[in-house]
Amino acid sequence: MLLDDLKNRSESQCELCRSSENLDIYEVPPTSNPSLDNSILICSVCKAQIEKTEQIDPEHWKVLAETMWSEHLPVQVVAWRMLSRLRNEAWAANNLDILYLDDETLEWAKKTGDHEAEATVEFHQDSNGTRLFEGDTVVLIKTLDVKGSSISAKLGTVVKNIRLVPDNTEQIEGKIEGQTIVILTKYLRKG
Ligand SMILES: [Zn+2]
Repeated sequence: MLLDDLKNRSESQCELCRSSENLDIYEVPPTSNPSLDNSILICSVCKAQIEKTEQIDPEHWKVLAETMWSEHLPVQVVAWRMLSRLRNEAWAANNLDILYLDDETLEWAKKTGDHEAEATVEFHQDSNGTRLFEGDTVVLIKTLDVKGSSISAKLGTVVKNIRLVPDNTEQIEGKIEGQTIVILTKYLRKG
């Protein structure tokens, strides 16, 4: 079983940060058939930051200076991607300079485009800076003028089961009086 093989390879440690907590398989994208050659064992903290569901914490990744020397290519690829995302940090830029990947591996590492992405991730937040998630309930903190509609979106209106507008962290969608409207996150707070 792949998980057992990965645990053997890594001595049951996260192959990126060496944590032994909440370990799971990470298939290094793009992959089709998960195997030891394209998967690594990582912890939930690393996974969330790699997959951008949590903000990146540069301190967490300083250990890459050691773990990037892994002989295993998928570990090298993810280390290279994360160092690239952190390239504004001097330590990360320095390590990136000395991390040598052969041509084929470098090509794989570049495939996701992560190396060109900013380190920080933007999330949907309410007017108080509290993070919003799909399905949340929010309350309007301002009476909204919904153009071309008779909807009354008054201050204090509760909007259940919101949707986050992809690619725009300043907007959510919610239903008021049965109609879906776009609402600016600065006009609401988490209910
Ligand atoms: Zn980890």
